[in-house]
Amino acid sequence: MRTLVHAYREAVRMATLAECTEIEHGTFATDEDLRLMAEHGTYVDPQAGLVIENYLANKAKFLDIGNYTEAGFPATEGALPLDHELIRRALQIPGLKVVFGTDAMAGAHGRNAEKLIDQVRDGGQNPMAALVSANSLAAESMGLEHEIGSIAPGMEADIIALDGDPLRDITAVRRVVFVMKGGQVYKNRAAWNGRQ
Ligand SMILES: [Zn+2]
Repeated sequence: MRTLVHAYREAVRMATLAECTEIEHGTFATDEDLRLMAEHGTYVDPQAGLVIENYLANKAKFLDIGNYTEAGFPATEGALPLDHELIRRALQIPGLKVVFGTDAMAGAHGRNAEKLIDQVRDGGQNPMAALVSANSLAAESMGLEHEIGSIAPGMEADIIALDGDPLRDITAVRRVVFVMKGGQVYKNRAAWNGRQ
């Protein structure tokens, strides 16, 4: 059975030893924990900032629902450098499968692009590796590598195009000008649209 666990501290090691498929956050994981994950083939999704940025941007709304307190928020602010430090360390571990994820936070939907920017700008990740983490590696982590995550014959044809080259400027991922889902075009504002 595939399992995805949101784990901090020693829970990271425990979830790895229990052969969980993927670990979200991994905050306070030691290098030893990260190496153990690499050995076990455990996917890790170190949150590179979006989840915390989203808490801060929507602070009033979170406080309003009553599950969060004013006192809890300074700790959240302090978590941002922890996220950046963890992803930087995770990227140094040979063979560790660092996959893209957003923690599925309310308020963050539709803002996945910000996570890619965080990975590159704040986590120091190579832009191509960041794109792979959100495409073929993410598909593989869900056991869907034969359907989505790559452009090849027989795949789902879920394709986007950007205005700009994300390998030179990762913020291009904010400028989606073309969307194809299952081979059907839903959006096409590409610059060449209408021209031959
Ligand atoms: Zn979480």
